[in-house]
Amino acid sequence: MLVLMKKDATKEDVLRVREKIETMGFRAHEIPGAQRTAIGVTGNKGKISPEHFTTLSGVDEAIPVSKPYKLAGRDARKENSEINVGGEMIGGRELAVIAGPCSVESWDQLITTARAVKEAGARFLRGGAFKPRSSPYSFQGMKEEGLVLLREAKAETGLKIVTEAKDVLTLPAVADVADIIQIGARNMSNFSLLEGVGDLRTPIILKRGISSTIEELLMAAEYILARGNLNVILCERGIRTFEPSTRYTLDLNAVPVVKKLSHLPIIVDPSHGIGMWDGVTAMALAGVAAGADGLMIEIHPHPSEALSDGYQSLKPERFRELMEKVRRMAEVLDRSLAAEVVQ
Ligand code: PEP
Ligand code: MN
Repeated sequence: MLVLMKKDATKEDVLRVREKIETMGFRAHEIPGAQRTAIGVTGNKGKISPEHFTTLSGVDEAIPVSKPYKLAGRDARKENSEINVGGEMIGGRELAVIAGPCSVESWDQLITTARAVKEAGARFLRGGAFKPRSSPYSFQGMKEEGLVLLREAKAETGLKIVTEAKDVLTLPAVADVADIIQIGARNMSNFSLLEGVGDLRTPIILKRGISSTIEELLMAAEYILARGNLNVILCERGIRTFEPSTRYTLDLNAVPVVKKLSHLPIIVDPSHGIGMWDGVTAMALAGVAAGADGLMIEIHPHPSEALSDGYQSLKPERFRELMEKVRRMAEVLDRSLAAEVVQ
C-alpha cells in the first residue's frame, strides 16, 4: 500500500502516518516528491484497509499497489527522481556521462584515461578494481591497489568515481572510495549484496542482469530502496538473445519502458551492449535518443593492450568525437551535456 500525503501535509502529519504503520507491525518507507510525499507500507501479508490512514490528518489517499515493486514504481513518485552525486545530478535535464577503462590496470593507464574523460566534458570516471570475470583465469582486477589509484585519480582530476562492488566482503573498501557503487550484471540478483548497498546512502548504479527481465531489474532496485537507499540509477547494458553477431543485444526498449514504470533514472552502456568499439557511438546516440539519462562508456589509451574488454573500448580521441555527437543529439532532445574543458 502507498499512503499519499496532501501537498500541504506537515512533517508531523508524515510522522503520525509512519508511527501508525509501525504500530501495526509494518515498515514505513518515505519517498519525498516535489508535489507530495508518499509513504510505502511493506511487511503486510494481506490487504490493509485504507481507512487506517485516510482518517489521519494530511493524508490524501491510500492506494493498494498491485505491482511487486512499490517504492520503485511511478505510483510512489510521479516526477523523475534525480540522484545527487556530490553535487552532480543524474536524472535531470543534463545527461551524465561515465567513462573510463573496464579495469584499472596502472596509474599511467588510469590517469591518462581520466584526463581524457575530463577534457571531453564527462564528470564521472569509471574503472573496475574488483572484476567479476566469466573465467577464473582472466584478470580479476587490481583489487585494493586499484581503489588506491582511483582515489588518487579523483584527487587529481576532481572526477567522481564509479567502481564496482563484487561482494559483501569487499563492499566497505569500495564504498570508502566510490561516489557511485556499481552493481554488475552478474550480481543483479545477489540479494545480500543488494541489501548491503541498500544499507548505505551512496548512489548505486544497478546493471540489468544478462538474462533478466525489466520487472526483475525493478525488483532488484526495490531491494535497495526497501533498505532506505533511494539513490538508485538503473543501467541497460544488453541482454543475451539468439543473436551471435554482437556480444549482447542492447535492449533500448528498456529505456521508455522503465521511464513509464519507474521514477528512477536509467542510463545506457553501449560498450557492453554491442561489444565492439566501432558500434559504440551509434548505440550511445540511440540510447540518448531513446531517453536515457546518461551513458557509461569504456575507454582505454591502448585498447589492444587492455586486460579486459579492449575490443569494445574507445580510444580517447574517438570518445571526444562521441561526446561531440552526443552534445548535438542532446540539444535536439532539449537536454544538455557539460561543456568540454578548455585547456
Ligand atoms: C563492467 O562494467 O565492466 C562490467 C563488468 O559490466 P557488466 O556487469 O554489465 O558486465
Ligand atoms: Mn567491462
